[in-house]
Amino acid sequence: KLYNQVQDLKGNIRVYCRVRPFLPGQSNYFSTVDHIEEGNITISTPAKNGKGYKSFTFNKVFGPSATQEEVFADTQPLIRSVLDGYNVCIFAYGQTGSGKTYTMTGPRDLNEHTQGVNYRALSDLFLLAWQRKDMFRYDVSVQMIEIYNEQVRDLLVTDGLNKRYPFNCYYPTSQSGYSVPNASLVHVSSTADVIDLMNLGQRNRAVGATALNDRSSRSHSCLTVHVQGRDLTSGAILRGCMHLVDLAGSERVDKSEVTGDRLKEAQHINKSLSALGDVISSLAQKNSHVPYRNSKLTQLLQDSLGGQAKTLMFVHISPEPDAVGETISTLKFAERVA
Ligand code: ADP
Ligand code: MG
Repeated sequence: KLYNQVQDLKGNIRVYCRVRPFLPGQSNYFSTVDHIEEGNITISTPAKNGKGYKSFTFNKVFGPSATQEEVFADTQPLIRSVLDGYNVCIFAYGQTGSGKTYTMTGPRDLNEHTQGVNYRALSDLFLLAWQRKDMFRYDVSVQMIEIYNEQVRDLLVTDGLNKRYPFNCYYPTSQSGYSVPNASLVHVSSTADVIDLMNLGQRNRAVGATALNDRSSRSHSCLTVHVQGRDLTSGAILRGCMHLVDLAGSERVDKSEVTGDRLKEAQHINKSLSALGDVISSLAQKNSHVPYRNSKLTQLLQDSLGGQAKTLMFVHISPEPDAVGETISTLKFAERVA
């Protein structure tokens, strides 16, 4: 109860930290995570980084053994509020390899237990909509886009050919109030429909990527779920939407080592992640001016960030000593928005 009240005072912004476990073959590594206690995490920095301890506080910290079920359980109330007409944004932040895609989508060998937040969110929305069927009639549609170098790409086109997805799809107009008016909007009526669409989006995302050049870590991907509910007794319409965003890797790139396209990508990522940080921290501080216009991502999500909207940032860290520099800068970024 008290926890919720505190959250409301802070403008509906929550930050959860998740620590990735060591990967198979890394069992003998030393972890930089010294200890976790409720919302606190203490990092021990190795000698070469100046031996010491740094503590950070968030709304929740999930250790390396936290399951997808446990992570979802703490996210579910937020997701359910979409059916009551709230706008929700969930972000996955962290360096490449820290577990962003694992949290949002899951691992490559996906099963019922390993499914990430976006599959669970959609199944849960359909379940809840069905439970409320005597009171409300819900209509659900999804969009999926990628932002790469500040350009938006529609991911729900048939296999990269730029042809519109043929089923139940329409193209919203800019007056309709949809946040991404130029991306296909596809009606869905079951979790199976959504899985098909997410697979299509994943395939499209991979187009143009090569083994050495996996673009997915350098672009933001966003699955948007629009919900419209009609109250069957009063006829009133409720609208809510949810954005599930797997952000580009937050690692800093050494400017002396990259040139050309890589440098340009790095600058775009840097700029958009700091613009996101600026927006969320000014919302958390209740500043009157919120700088939405500084990046494509914050422009697109403007209606779902601030006001009555609810925001959850999952910050991911890797436990390896090699990653400690990025781990500390990730936690500092997160502390600034919390
Ligand atoms: P990112 O999207 O941040 O680059 P990934 O989600 O791809 O990182 O994670 C990197 C690797 O670690 C993948 O092989 C993934 O399956 C694994 N992984 C990440 N988080 C977890 C976790 N909580 N439990 C088990 N494996 C994980
Ligand atoms: Mg990823």
